[in-house]
Amino acid sequence: MSKRNFILNAWMKKCPRCQEGDLFLQPFDWSKPVNMPEMCPVCHQKYEPEPGFYYGAMFLSYILSGFFFLAIMGTCLIFLDMSLNASMGVLLVVAALTYFFFLRMSRSLWINLMVKYDPEAKKSQDVKGFGY
Ligand SMILES: [Zn+2]
Repeated sequence: MSKRNFILNAWMKKCPRCQEGDLFLQPFDWSKPVNMPEMCPVCHQKYEPEPGFYYGAMFLSYILSGFFFLAIMGTCLIFLDMSLNASMGVLLVVAALTYFFFLRMSRSLWINLMVKYDPEAKKSQDVKGFGY
């Protein structure tokens, strides 16, 4: 299998090292929205290589949702000609609906930024922290 773009891989929420294992456990559990296995079932890449690894994902989540919400507000105010209060109402609903999406997407993007793709990963069964 050829290497997939890391943004597409993050979107699909796959392991960054082998691009096959799922990052999150299925089915979705409302009480544990970021329910990740300890390591990739295919290549044994650790999904939390060090304590506090996903701290940086918080900043990614802020950046992603910030620009997304800005676009929502801009669309409501400029193109749909809604009032400020109505636009804020729409924004609150959209923010509530996309909360878990941004939470998972930022974690997926963060680990895909930090861990490199390794085409040989499936063959080795070594437990890996970062991709070296
Ligand atoms: Zn993997």
